[in-house]
Amino acid sequence: MNFPHDDEERATLFKLAGKKSPDQASKIDIRGVSCGKGHFLLIAGPCAVESEEQIAGLAVRLKEAGADMLRGGAFKSRTSPYSFQGLGREGLTYLTEAGRRSGLPVISEITHPDQIPLFAHVDVIQVGARNMQNFELLKALGKTDKPILLKRGLAANYGEWLMSAEYIMREGNTNVILCERGIRTFESYTRNTLDLSALPALHQLTHLPVIVDPSHATGRSSFVEPMALAAAAAGADGLMIEVHERPSMARSDGAQALTPDAFSTLAIKIRQVRKVLETVEG
Ligand code: PEP
Ligand code: MN
Repeated sequence: MNFPHDDEERATLFKLAGKKSPDQASKIDIRGVSCGKGHFLLIAGPCAVESEEQIAGLAVRLKEAGADMLRGGAFKSRTSPYSFQGLGREGLTYLTEAGRRSGLPVISEITHPDQIPLFAHVDVIQVGARNMQNFELLKALGKTDKPILLKRGLAANYGEWLMSAEYIMREGNTNVILCERGIRTFESYTRNTLDLSALPALHQLTHLPVIVDPSHATGRSSFVEPMALAAAAAGADGLMIEVHERPSMARSDGAQALTPDAFSTLAIKIRQVRKVLETVEG
C-alpha cells in the first residue's frame, strides 16, 4: 500500500493503532514486566528450544545477566522444510517450565491458529515476519487476551505493518508490541537491513511500543551489539536478542547468536545508554 500522508486518511486507516495525540503511548504489562511508555523490555534466548537442559540452564544465566523475558522458538517458520522445525508442543513445555523456574515471563512464535490452546502458559505470543500478513492468524490472536509481538514482514512498509496491528486490535486485543527485525534490500552482506528509522517514524504514527531485533536484522553476532546500542539510543522500547550457550552448535541461527557472556556485557551497555537518555531527558 502507498503510505497515506494525509492526516484524515491516516485516521480512517489506523483507527486503533494510530496516535490520537502526540504524547499518547501505550504500556503493555506482561506478568511483572512492562514495555512502552518509558519501560524497556529486554528479551533474550535461543532461536529455538533444543532441549529441556539447554533452555533451563540458559534461563538462569539470562536472568542473572538482566534479561526481562525469555524467548525460545518451538514452532519454527524456516525457509527450508528440510531445516530443523522446532520441538513443537514439547518445546513450549520446556520453555514455560524454564520461565517458571527462573522467574522470567516467556515468549514464543505461533504459526497456526490451531496452536493457540498450546500457548496457555506462554506470556507473549510472537507473530513471525513471514506471518505478518497471515490475516486469519492475526484475527484469531485478536480474540485472545495475550500480548502479541508483531514482527515486521520482510518487505512490509510501515502502513502495511500497522494495518496488520489493526487486524489484531479490531478483534478486541489491543496489547500489541511491534518488532523491527530488518527488511529485504539489495545489500547481501548482512542477512537483512535494519531500518532504524522505523523507531522515530512509528513513534510518530502509533502509540504502540516498538522494539528491535538486531539478531535477525544483521545475521552476524559481531553486529548485534552495535545495532542494539543504536536501537536503544534511537528510542526503542526494548530489544530481542538471540543467545546460545554454544553458538557453533546451534540447530538454527548460530551465526547471529551471542554467548551468555556477550549478552551480559551488552545488557550492561544498554543500561548505560538508557541512563544517559534518561539523564538528558530529565
Ligand atoms: C524468530 O524470532 O525466531 C524469527 C524466526 O524471526 P523472524 O520472524 O523475524 O524471521
Ligand atoms: Mn532465529
